[in-house]
Amino acid sequence: MKALVYHGPGRKSWDEVPDPVIQKPSDIIVKIDTTTICGTDLHILKGDVPAVTEGRILGHEGVGTITEVGDAISTLKVGDRVILSCVSACGRCDYCRKGVYSHCRADEGSPGIGWIFGHLIDGTQAEYVRVPFAETSVHKIPEGVSDAEGVLLSDILPTGHEIGVQYGQVKPGDVVAVIGAGPVGLAAILTAGLYGPSRVIAIDLDANRVEEAKKFGATDGVVNSDPDWKEQVLAMTDGLGVDVAIEAVGIPQTFSDCLAITRPAGVVANVGVHGTGVNLPLDTLWISNIKMTMGLVNTNTTDTLLKMVASKKLDATPFVSHTFKLDDILEAYDVFSRAAETKALKVMLTS
Ligand code: NAD
Ligand code: ZN
Repeated sequence: MKALVYHGPGRKSWDEVPDPVIQKPSDIIVKIDTTTICGTDLHILKGDVPAVTEGRILGHEGVGTITEVGDAISTLKVGDRVILSCVSACGRCDYCRKGVYSHCRADEGSPGIGWIFGHLIDGTQAEYVRVPFAETSVHKIPEGVSDAEGVLLSDILPTGHEIGVQYGQVKPGDVVAVIGAGPVGLAAILTAGLYGPSRVIAIDLDANRVEEAKKFGATDGVVNSDPDWKEQVLAMTDGLGVDVAIEAVGIPQTFSDCLAITRPAGVVANVGVHGTGVNLPLDTLWISNIKMTMGLVNTNTTDTLLKMVASKKLDATPFVSHTFKLDDILEAYDVFSRAAETKALKVMLTS
């Protein structure tokens, strides 16, 4: 089969590789119908995620059709259409029993982390993928949900919702700022709307993305290349800052910016994947009562979000900016990595 293979920082290619095979009775094999590219894949290609080794097939999002099931599978069958979750969960370990699937301790790749596709085992940017712990990890797609909508439930919608909005404890009436209006930030903006905030401010260097954010429910936008952008944000509150700031970029500057615009006793929810440490000025912060949260998506709200997408309570369709054939994935990477010029959000790759 063909697959997008990582060959070390800055190097990837669309290679001929062996087809995946069932390795454990709880595995299934899925033919990829639609996959996509995540900001995290770009971090991997920059060398920010050293656990990804040369030869790894990238990708942790996808929708596909089951072609083979292991002997222990009883609730899935060949031909079922499924959403592949970016987090694989054994369903049995202590973390899974608490719903913290992000830290599933089953021994697949390396124990202790649920994000394994395109990280510790081969991923979904391929014609076929082996899916471990299939019964406790995939989601069957209900009637009326498109492949593109399903792919958005693999990662970005649960990530924005759980690590941005839920960890940020967004409440009715809150002023929420989201720094980074890429797909993950936009997912946080969209799902923040479920909790009744009074304002949602989208902040990005890219004026186009700030404008796009209004389609996802942002009430205000700030382009943070403006020298007075912080004053603009403070002017939208009572001068004290926002209740919740969500970091959806993954660089030290934007984490510091979140701290700078959050009011005392507010929350900074970090979603971004960081490649370097950040300076935490505890000498001034300790007295602020600001909470900081961070984490890997648990995907414990995927089913809820799937129901809301199926019933059209959440409109995921504006995320899709481009569609390519899977064979043209290198071109899709190029378009996605130049989002400011190409206006790319989520690029869909279909078989
Ligand atoms: P993306 O690269 O598509 O979007 C990032 C956005 O940040 C872009 O719109 C860019 O213009 C903007 N940006 C860059 N520098 C900025 C700055 N200085 N100020 C303001 N905006 C700036 O990425 P994405 O796919 O939306 O993902 C966002 C982050 O979330 C990434 O770090 C990704 O790795 C991470 N992520 C985390 C999890 C998790 O479980 N915690 C899951 C998925 C993705
Ligand atoms: Zn587990």
